[in-house]
Amino acid sequence: MEIPFLDLKVQFKQIENEVLPMITEAMANGMFIGGPQVAGFETEFAQFCESPFCVGVGSGTDALRFALMAAGVGNGDEVITVSNTFIATTEAISQVGAKPVFVDIDPLTYNMDAGQIAAKVNTKTKAIIPVHLYGQPADLDPIIEIAGKSKLVVIEDACQAHGALYKNKKAGSIGFAGCFSFYPGKNLGAFGEAGAVTTASEEVAKKIRMIRDHGQAQKYFHDIEGYNGRLDAIQAGVLRIKLKRLEQWNQARRKNAAEYSRLLSDIEEIAAPKEHQDAESVYHLYVILVDKRDELQKFLSEKGVATGLHYPMPLHLQKAYTYLGYQRGALPVTEKISERLLSLPMFPELTSEQIHYVVSQIKAFLSKKR
Ligand SMILES: *Cc1c(COP(=O)(O)O)cnc(C)c1O
Repeated sequence: MEIPFLDLKVQFKQIENEVLPMITEAMANGMFIGGPQVAGFETEFAQFCESPFCVGVGSGTDALRFALMAAGVGNGDEVITVSNTFIATTEAISQVGAKPVFVDIDPLTYNMDAGQIAAKVNTKTKAIIPVHLYGQPADLDPIIEIAGKSKLVVIEDACQAHGALYKNKKAGSIGFAGCFSFYPGKNLGAFGEAGAVTTASEEVAKKIRMIRDHGQAQKYFHDIEGYNGRLDAIQAGVLRIKLKRLEQWNQARRKNAAEYSRLLSDIEEIAAPKEHQDAESVYHLYVILVDKRDELQKFLSEKGVATGLHYPMPLHLQKAYTYLGYQRGALPVTEKISERLLSLPMFPELTSEQIHYVVSQIKAFLSKKR
């Protein structure tokens, strides 16, 4: 059996009848940048996130960069984040002129360990970016408490967590700003690049609207230098069509995750993902921990099962960040997990039969090794 890691083609089939006329209409009226599709999506996504404002931008990376700029983070500042994330989190920090400072993660949720933050805070620290990794919100309350004491802003990297809950609040609606990516493979994915920032502050929303559009509130009058970081109309149209189904798709992911976890529960060698008591994950990824990870990945590939590694090398050990001066051993939990993690196929349309096949192949591999 061939099981893809992610199947965007089957999802397109479900919405094809709505998407194609929308694209034709966009072409016919020549409205490609901004306009009613973008405004409509912003309103609907703000509602979905239970956040007062949403600003559509060009990508998740733009969202993070613009949120940092709107928070006044810049040259010489420090921003605390995690090392087990996609590099966009830290690119955004360094691209506004600040320095990423890494803390280790919790060994059960793989999210930011709030207990490690205080030791890294100094007079240069301006912000904390917890990442809601794999679809599970980080434990935000203790993070927000530390941030409050030291007057730091908390920017949620919710690029993998559209619709996830923390204490019954939507991811992205809790901090100073929530940053979302609509890269095609995300839980809510465009047909190209797209992103958004959610915020409770009208002031912040206004600033980000200017930053995404070359620093102008009025055409050709630039209060600041900004970026070309807008959301385009066709992508917004696709996102509106998909957003109506997101709740249902997230529930399907949760159901698939529950089935994986039930089937894996009697395998000693596998650690299945765990949900924090205050969090409800939307399972952007279903990540297990296992020894002999590389061998298992190769075995599964030979059996037709596509898997992924998120992420095989923590950021603090990447060549791009040698200038930050971290040594191996600096973040022991992050490093240990990076050697053992394996992402299994996960998407809403994954069938029970496919899940059973994946688990039976994992069992076949492990029984050979015993
Ligand atoms: C996808 C992702 C981003 C970046 O989003 P882009 O839309 O690709 O720029 C940032 N952070 C995390 C955690 C992501 O998964």
